[in-house]
Amino acid sequence: MRRLNEPSHILGHLDSGPVRGPVNPEEPYKKVDAASQEYKESQELSSEILKDQHGLEVFGGRLFERVSRLDSSLAIAEQIQAGNPAYSLIRAEREELDKSIESDKIYLSEDIQEMRDVITDLSKDQTKSVFVKKLFEEIFTNSALLLILKNEKIVSSDDKEQAYGEFIQNFSLISLEALVAIAGNHLDIFNKKSAEFNKVIATFVPQLRAYLSQAIEKGVLPLEPEVLPRLDSLSIKMRDPLLSAFEEINGEFRIWANEIVISEYTVGDLKSNIVHEIFHALSGRTIVGRNLTFEDIRIGEFEMLDANHQRIGLRFVPMEPNSPALAEKYTPRFRWLNEALTDYLMQRVLGANASMSYNSEIRLFRLLAEKAQIPENLFVEAYFENYKTDVPRDERIPKWKELWERLNKAFGSGFMVRLDQLVEESGIEEAIKEVEENFLPS
Ligand SMILES: [Zn+2]
Repeated sequence: MRRLNEPSHILGHLDSGPVRGPVNPEEPYKKVDAASQEYKESQELSSEILKDQHGLEVFGGRLFERVSRLDSSLAIAEQIQAGNPAYSLIRAEREELDKSIESDKIYLSEDIQEMRDVITDLSKDQTKSVFVKKLFEEIFTNSALLLILKNEKIVSSDDKEQAYGEFIQNFSLISLEALVAIAGNHLDIFNKKSAEFNKVIATFVPQLRAYLSQAIEKGVLPLEPEVLPRLDSLSIKMRDPLLSAFEEINGEFRIWANEIVISEYTVGDLKSNIVHEIFHALSGRTIVGRNLTFEDIRIGEFEMLDANHQRIGLRFVPMEPNSPALAEKYTPRFRWLNEALTDYLMQRVLGANASMSYNSEIRLFRLLAEKAQIPENLFVEAYFENYKTDVPRDERIPKWKELWERLNKAFGSGFMVRLDQLVEESGIEEAIKEVEENFLPS
């Protein structure tokens, strides 16, 4: 019997990127052209692998399938036990059936434990507990489910807030039946929302594309028109935040798979989040890679590129392994600035309808631009710049080069890195205060 869904530690697994074979660390990374054939092939292969990893949309779905398969195996076993001639399996088949029942029971108990851990962990997380609260709302508004939980003495209060506290407190005592009912209800709701989401995507993305294409033509957005076809292969899905850990509260752009995932429990306006993530997808890139052969990856017959993105928009993610001596040089930088520009551009497209997620980051970016007297558009141009391999070295990302020089001239060299450290260590508000108080307009 083929096992459909092997147990896996889903949370770590889903977001770790494509499977990569051993790489020879001696072989240096080289900068890669995004338009090159080798890069395109590596992208295709990456998304193929990812499809397999993302086989199940929601945790509830897996639990549900596991239970129904176990139920049907147990029903067959019962028929055999009762001597039903229709179920007289040959010996080998019966052994297979028994084995599958045993392993399904083990997997199921692992699934349940994983589900309990996920819910418990998320409920303790300051930002992510909102997802567990949303899950509880689904239960609380379903009288049949609520009754099950009351009968099991998981909750007793009729007050939602209080009942939520009891739910978290007693979650480890929930029976399998109740878990399956909760998961089934959650899955139904997710599937309905997901279908609605797909409808929105089907009409909204072509509209956005037409809008962007006009904005490029009119010179309003400094985007290279060759970048727009990225949207054709971009997949945009709704995902369950109880299952997937996103980098941002509302979703994530997964560059290695050219995929946007949007949280089922999106905070704020859905279109704002979609446009935000789409700008991440359209932003400029510096790609580095090493060639892997079939021997390295054992997946296909052809050579694949171990492609990484050293820069996405204005965010820099160095690729070499961290060592204490090189820590400074290889620390990822300017996530806040990249998010600021992404949300700033989103607001330009949606205007008054935009729901912002990075107001403080935008404030800091505009403060820098104002104090250094750098046009905001230079940041935007640098954000969209793709690394070019076919021009002399210092012309490969000229806008970033210009921006960096002007920032250094205005604030002194080393300032931007110190500011980034301050954002990471003390938060964005502290950094704003620092720039407001200590750097007078020149
Ligand atoms: Zn973002």
